[in-house]
Amino acid sequence: MTMDSSFVQFTRETLPLHQTASGCTYEIDVYRYNHPNASQTVYLQGGLHGIELGGVPVVYEFMEEIERLQLATNFIAVPQSNPMGLDSQIMGLQTGYNNLHTNPQNCWNWNRIGYLRHEASQEGHWIHTLLNLVETADISLDFHTAGFEAVPHVYCHTEQVEHVSRLGIPHILGWNTPSHSFSDTVYQMGKVGITFELGCSRRVTGAMIEDGLNYLRRFFHILPPASEATMSLVSQQLKKWYAPLSGVLSWHKQVGETVQAGERLATMYTRKGKKELTSPYTGILLIKYPIHAPHERQELAKFLLPSSM
Ligand SMILES: [Zn+2]
Repeated sequence: MTMDSSFVQFTRETLPLHQTASGCTYEIDVYRYNHPNASQTVYLQGGLHGIELGGVPVVYEFMEEIERLQLATNFIAVPQSNPMGLDSQIMGLQTGYNNLHTNPQNCWNWNRIGYLRHEASQEGHWIHTLLNLVETADISLDFHTAGFEAVPHVYCHTEQVEHVSRLGIPHILGWNTPSHSFSDTVYQMGKVGITFELGCSRRVTGAMIEDGLNYLRRFFHILPPASEATMSLVSQQLKKWYAPLSGVLSWHKQVGETVQAGERLATMYTRKGKKELTSPYTGILLIKYPIHAPHERQELAKFLLPSSM
């Protein structure tokens, strides 16, 4: 008698999106893993924003673990979910937050267009394609990154925090009012929709990939749970910091540091001399944005404030 140890059934499908003027086709590869004992289906997505590269290798690496460990879950994996975004760079810098090539009028953020699902545009057809894949899943895990420096964090509905509280990701940002983001749209489809922010954008490091894999390993009980993380409310505790004046910016704080209101945060070099910028908040510096020559009122960073409870 022969035993077939390979229980996971694997298929790959390539979905066409649209052709460019020169006749090249943008397409999406979908990898499906079906296990006979699976009780749920999980959708794994990387690269929704073309600038946010870290999730792409995390999903590719985890696909190997699905097969090697014969995980008893059904998976739909889309490691490169946005080929238009991935191919967007200007002078060697990734720029794929929106469709700069063909849609300059609207410049929709790729992660804010769930409502375009039934529109015949390029963006509508693309988001329709991805959301159709999620239709057959119970849970969607969408891997992003943020800024040019960022502490890893995760967004989810406050009712779904249990899914991410013990993954080892340091900050959980809970929301109650869904936006038109991918995960929020998935939530409104009656599913679990989680957005991971693995670290900084544009770069990929081995440490970021390993951290992302460890979050997934804890999610699927391959690793024991981490200690419980606390949740912060997006509506009350996540605060944007805008440039109080324009110039050339030099930071004095790193992400992950706790800063006090009034503490020196950065120096701005302006035509009227050097100005010291102080923090308007007491909290953790969560994300820094790449701009170092901000216009007045341009977003520079996000802070996570302690709970007022
Ligand atoms: Zn993103």
